Amino acid sequence: MTMPVQGVQHGIAPPTLWICEHCDTVFRRRVLACGEVARCARCDAILARHHRVGVRGMLALVLTAMIAFIQGNIWPIVTLGLNGHLISTTLWGCIVMMWNEHAQVVSVIAAMTLFFIPIFKMGLLGWVLLYARKGERAPGFRLAMVTLHRIGPWTMSEVFVLGTLVAIVKAHMYFDVVPNAGIFAYGVLMLIITAFASIDVRELWDLTEERRA
Ligand SMILES: [Zn+2]
Repeated sequence: MTMPVQGVQHGIAPPTLWICEHCDTVFRRRVLACGEVARCARCDAILARHHRVGVRGMLALVLTAMIAFIQGNIWPIVTLGLNGHLISTTLWGCIVMMWNEHAQVVSVIAAMTLFFIPIFKMGLLGWVLLYARKGERAPGFRLAMVTLHRIGPWTMSEVFVLGTLVAIVKAHMYFDVVPNAGIFAYGVLMLIITAFASIDVRELWDLTEERRA
């Protein structure tokens, strides 16, 4: 049974402790069996899961996500009918076009959810994982982990779907829209991101060691 520990300040859990994100109760950490899930004794929130995907698996996922992201940004995502002309456009072309058509708020939301946040998260996670592969902590590991925790453990799929839907629906008001290859690359990216939602990045605290200077 997982027992609460008294008198520990809330913050980033040291490797020997779990802190419930919902009620702040602190637990002594233990090794989980395959497929086991540790839950908070007080509020039943999930503390940790046994991980089936190792550091290498996570790194492979991040690399696949990056490739899908690049393809999603190189290939046209939609063909637009505008004044009788057919124009194939990339994500950025769409964003710029929406901006010019006075849909600035939507274009900023699309740029954030479909471009900047994913690239920031993939970069941060990739950086941490590159070192974690060797069992080391990357320079800035602590800050990177806190940031990753703050912006959510890669559960961006809802934001992604929402951003895409808003963008497409909004674009429909201005253009005839036909989806292209790039949008399918984004579909793949969404699947990978959904897979990431089931991975607990906090495990990296256990899998890595502080480098001795
Ligand atoms: Zn709790």
